[in-house]
Amino acid sequence: MAKTIQAIRGMNDCSPTESPLWQWVEEKVRSVLQTYGYSEVRMPIVESTPLFARAIGEVTDVVSKEMYTFWDNDEQLTLRPEGTAGCVRAAIEHGWIYNNEQRLWYMGPMFRHERPQKGRYRQFHQAGVEVFGIANPEIDAELILLTARLWKQLGIFEHVTLQLNSIGSLEARQNYRSALVEFLQQHIDLLSDEEKERLVKNPLRILDTKNQALQEVLNDAPKLLDYLDQESREHFSQLCDLLDAAGIQYEVNPKLVRGLDYYNKTVFEWVTSALGAQGTVCGGGRYDGLVEQLGGHAACGVGFAMGLERLVLLVQEVNKQIALPSAVDIYVVYSGEGTTLPAFQLAEKLRTELPHLRTMTHCSGGNFKKQFKRADKVGAKFALVIGEMEAQTQQVVVKDLLGGAEQQSLALTDVVAYLKQATQ
Ligand code: ATP
Ligand code: MG
Repeated sequence: MAKTIQAIRGMNDCSPTESPLWQWVEEKVRSVLQTYGYSEVRMPIVESTPLFARAIGEVTDVVSKEMYTFWDNDEQLTLRPEGTAGCVRAAIEHGWIYNNEQRLWYMGPMFRHERPQKGRYRQFHQAGVEVFGIANPEIDAELILLTARLWKQLGIFEHVTLQLNSIGSLEARQNYRSALVEFLQQHIDLLSDEEKERLVKNPLRILDTKNQALQEVLNDAPKLLDYLDQESREHFSQLCDLLDAAGIQYEVNPKLVRGLDYYNKTVFEWVTSALGAQGTVCGGGRYDGLVEQLGGHAACGVGFAMGLERLVLLVQEVNKQIALPSAVDIYVVYSGEGTTLPAFQLAEKLRTELPHLRTMTHCSGGNFKKQFKRADKVGAKFALVIGEMEAQTQQVVVKDLLGGAEQQSLALTDVVAYLKQATQ
């Protein structure tokens, strides 16, 4: 036998038994976004590398070590590690922003060269939202309400908490950065080599260190919230008021900074403790400077992205109520002289008349016993049987595979009405 070839590490197949749950989750995402009037956009998976370097920031983990980059002749290209950069690029390129404000969403694969583990993969999927042109905090609140509604529909709301922070204007952050660096320099012996490097390049990232001793020291570090500019402070307090009024609980987490450079003002994450270390299921925030930074006319932006693998894992973990449809409702069984044609015609008729039912035709020969086994295997509710007798008399035998009702013979012309009633 020839040697087999395996999937790339950290890049998963979605099996036929897993896909119904994925479809269920994706459908909930789509329907909630529609409820809020958002429009879907689809961007390419490959973009030019400088787009990500400029948008996400050279010194971020994503750009400095997680991107899949390759040369295409003399152009450097990257598999998208996230959706915001591409969405902003597209919005500028097609003038989506200037016509009117835009509320957009997308869903699809992202790629990051990370160490694969539960909830962390090299190809993973995000559903993301980007809203352009709205400065006031009502829209920040809307995004959070939208996600909360989705968690309820997915049956995971009780298992996630909202972490919220404001990281202020660029200037406020720079002031804070200096104060933080000064503070951390007094504790330099606690910093790992990587954190020492971060102290120079991206000190705010040290705030979400996993290093326990450092975490404790950080409790006494200067707080970003104390350095906020007046405008960001007001924006944040209005957002908090709106969330309070909507009954959304949150925890203000002064250490929450997020890994991408483009954020300002609001940042938030929905986290769970049910998935081990990979607890963030959704993260987002405001990025008012990004459109201009990527060459567009200044326009503010706010968005978030959720990790679908983590959501699917969480739903599996905590929501035992979902009844996923089986792949097949009706299995058409036939054997003997002259039975193929009527079986095919019957199956096609059912697909036309009862399109919500999933009708499968056996197709692969063999005796009735083998065919019934197959019908059970695929979880069909009914088997429709056509033997030589039925073919000659224009009849069909209906066998209730789950309910255990007596099998009965029906005229071919009565089958649709019967199944319509029986599957209501
Ligand atoms: P983390 O801290 O877990 O690495 P992040 O801050 O890098 O997350 P974002 O860039 O904000 O993540 O992406 C938004 C969401 O996408 C995350 O909250 C997570 O649910 C999901 N996500 C990010 N990276 C991965 C990955 N490698 N595998 C699976 N899901 C991921
Ligand atoms: Mg990451």
